Amino acid sequence: MEAVEPTQKKALKIVREPKVYLVGRQELDREAIERFLADQGVSWSTDTEVGAEALAEMAGRACYMSYGKGRKTNREFLAHIIEVGHGSVLEHGVWNFLVTGVSRSFTHELIRHRHFSYSQLSQRYVDESESDFIEPDVIAGDPELHAVWCEAVNAARAAYDQLVAGLEKHFAGEPDKTLRRKLARQAARSVLPNATETKIFVTGNARALRHFIELRGSEHADVEIRKVAVEMLRILMRDSPALFGDYKLVELPDGTLVTHTDHPHV
Ligand SMILES: Cc1cc2nc3c(=O)[nH]c(=O)nc-3n(C[C@H](O)[C@H](O)[C@H](O)COP(=O)(O)OP(=O)(O)OC[C@H]3O[C@@H](n4cnc5c(N)ncnc54)[C@H](O)[C@@H]3O)c2cc1C
Repeated sequence: MEAVEPTQKKALKIVREPKVYLVGRQELDREAIERFLADQGVSWSTDTEVGAEALAEMAGRACYMSYGKGRKTNREFLAHIIEVGHGSVLEHGVWNFLVTGVSRSFTHELIRHRHFSYSQLSQRYVDESESDFIEPDVIAGDPELHAVWCEAVNAARAAYDQLVAGLEKHFAGEPDKTLRRKLARQAARSVLPNATETKIFVTGNARALRHFIELRGSEHADVEIRKVAVEMLRILMRDSPALFGDYKLVELPDGTLVTHTDHPHV
């Protein structure tokens, strides 16, 4: 949370930086793997501790039954897969993220990426009267534009509160309290701005993540989604150098970062 603007009723809570939490990663079932290798009369071990990297290697080796043969290290094996564009192998490495402090305009762009899985905060079930709001940096940096933005967001918040109150009266005959609130909130949310803060759980495989990072880490992408793409890449470069180590973060003249790889579209 970066700024609090007082209003007549309650403070407007403004967020300017997204948060990306890596909340899940894969692990191996070593006993099943050993059983498979024994059944096939081969032996194989890998030098990576990262579940997604080991599973992607294991999947790739299934294509050629090259367990115990060929490229020795996991890094060498996956670098070759990336170089030749054998992208389906990368789909076996999966991560789970929680992204918070982001706007509804960000999630509208994010969910266009069809190979991720999503679970997002519901504006029908959750009361948005205490919501945070995401202010673009370029508006926050200009006092006059900031004042215009705050006025617009406060007007929307006031309208939302009035609509929820009016709609709860309208649905007073509905005995189920949860349903009554849902009916009120689902109509009242129509006045909430794109700036309204949301939270989204995102699951993606290495191939889909690479595609997202390339499209949305580009200087042509919106600033907010670019921040998330850069942060996801930072996490993934640390977590899985064999699957994301070919990327670089490059600074633009305005000080913001973009992503780059010599192996796009794998
Ligand atoms: C800078 C920028 C500006 C944009 N501006 C706009 C805009 O003005 N309006 C707008 O509507 N969108 C816009 N978008 C969103 C864009 O059109 C895509 O919807 C979004 O980037 C997801 O890309 P994708 O479809 O490649 O990704 P994914 O859904 O992740 O798909 C990945 C890849 O899978 C394949 N694929 C997936 N589904 C299919 C399918 N049904 N048929 C065939 N192949 C498929 C394609 O090869 C695709 O590239 C913009 C995106 C960017 C990065």
